[in-house]
Amino acid sequence: MSRPNFSESRANDGFETVPNSSRRLLLLPLHETKMIWLINGPRMRVEASPAGIVKVFEPLAQQSFKNIWRQVVVRGLTAGKTTLVARDGDEVKARLSITVRPVLNIPTAFHFVGDSTSADHRTGVSSRAGKRQPGDVDSLIQTLNDIFVPQAAIRFQKMYWRYVTVNGNIGDSVVVSSSPVAGDLWSRITSLGERSARFNVFFVRDMDVNGLAGNQGGATAIGGNDCIIEDSEDGVSLAHEAGHALGLLDSSTRKNRLMYSITGQRGQFISRVEADRINS
Ligand SMILES: [Zn+2]
Repeated sequence: MSRPNFSESRANDGFETVPNSSRRLLLLPLHETKMIWLINGPRMRVEASPAGIVKVFEPLAQQSFKNIWRQVVVRGLTAGKTTLVARDGDEVKARLSITVRPVLNIPTAFHFVGDSTSADHRTGVSSRAGKRQPGDVDSLIQTLNDIFVPQAAIRFQKMYWRYVTVNGNIGDSVVVSSSPVAGDLWSRITSLGERSARFNVFFVRDMDVNGLAGNQGGATAIGGNDCIIEDSEDGVSLAHEAGHALGLLDSSTRKNRLMYSITGQRGQFISRVEADRINS
């Protein structure tokens, strides 16, 4: 029989096998529950050491002793580190290092950007405010949280959405500079943000970044509070921009990563190194 081991039950759920190592890690947000597999460990005893950091359940008793794939459920009881072990008698056959981490909340405000030159004089709504609907905001924030809560213990909280109007003409495509200066279009748009928000999202019909080749769908300063993103971008793109806002850089090597630089080709994986950088 193959070696016993713990394994993820779904991708992008905070489980990681450390590259070039047999170490397995699980990030568990405080008070949350996750299911993992114990493979090839029939009859083994599963427990956490030290105790008290997580509660361990084996929800399907009939699986517990014979099956090659055993469900194990853990719930984070208190912040800290523990190791889930599978024992055969006194011998430890498999290990999973679990970190229980409090959830960091990110107050987030959404702004539908229009301009004064195209504003309807009765409604005040600008025809340059784009095609994104206020109802889209909830599904976008759901996608952010589906990616960031399990993998980084970070939750984006919607403060509100609103229309904002930039004085003057923002153009049919909002062209911003990659190194903004006071008074430029980037600054005129982002100055309309919510000061108490950690993440301000500005929706525009179309955007581009001066000096960068190709179509740019979103722009966010590394570690900044503001993101300008065009209407054609989806929730995974917004999550990528949110990663920049939290301090993550583009990753050019692995396509399975959320921070892979090319839109439409990237996955949703946040590595543990990245998670530790943005919330530890
Ligand atoms: Zn990027």
